[in-house]
Amino acid sequence: MDQNGLLEGGLRVLALDIGGSRTKWAVFQGGEMVESGAFPTPRDPDALLRSVRGKEAHRIAVAFAGFAHEGTVAFSPNLPEYQGVRLADLISRETGARVILENDANCFVLGEALRGAGRGAICVLGLTLGTGIGGGLVIDGRLYRGAGFALEPGHTIVDPDGPPCACGSRGCLESLIGERAFCARFGYPSARKAAEAKDEKAWDFYGHWLGIALANFINILDPDAVVLGGGVAGAIGLFWSSMMAAVESGTVKWKMRKTRLVRSELGEHAALWGGYILAANPGH
Ligand SMILES: [Zn+2]
Repeated sequence: MDQNGLLEGGLRVLALDIGGSRTKWAVFQGGEMVESGAFPTPRDPDALLRSVRGKEAHRIAVAFAGFAHEGTVAFSPNLPEYQGVRLADLISRETGARVILENDANCFVLGEALRGAGRGAICVLGLTLGTGIGGGLVIDGRLYRGAGFALEPGHTIVDPDGPPCACGSRGCLESLIGERAFCARFGYPSARKAAEAKDEKAWDFYGHWLGIALANFINILDPDAVVLGGGVAGAIGLFWSSMMAAVESGTVKWKMRKTRLVRSELGEHAALWGGYILAANPGH
């Protein structure tokens, strides 16, 4: 298909959501998701490049599990093979498309803010609950990036005497309720197993520490929506009451606030939607 053929159906965007174990993809055309799928994330970046070779799209959005800086993967604890790889340029070379690279949690919250559970809100804070605890902030429809590396909620210190964290600090939210740390503490192979066991003690612990962190974020940002996503958000019914108890006791003037806490609506597709929005409207 030539460029004219491509344009017949409007802007065609390929979005990739490259995670530690799985890569999800979707094709957007005319503002709608028309195709989607997933494959195991290749450990070798060259294999990933081969998988996109010749793909037809005007623009490609890459949501990546790690820090992304000016088209390069700056840091990725879960995919160290990609560290330092100029992924945007390399994918552009394979496809001829214009490529943007963005942190996956940023894409998640942008998708939820504009197309999902945060629709209509002015300030949307999003948290992804998984192996890591990622996050992003959208204000007036735009991602807030700070000076470049804003929003690392997983590494806010909630217990200075807590366990050591992979980042070198101690008592970070992630060192307590990152999926690996949480499962190791309570003896489960995965959070899904802990959910199946309906282990009240474990989930009260999870909700308590998450709620303390959320109270801190709400005190600072006063978001109108907080969207919780990621695999562990599937257990929200098990940690909701302990989370809300900590949010209500830790947030100043909780009852006067308009903040609503909601679960992701777009689920697995949230970061793909966010990537699409970024690629289609580079101003976001
Ligand atoms: Zn940390």
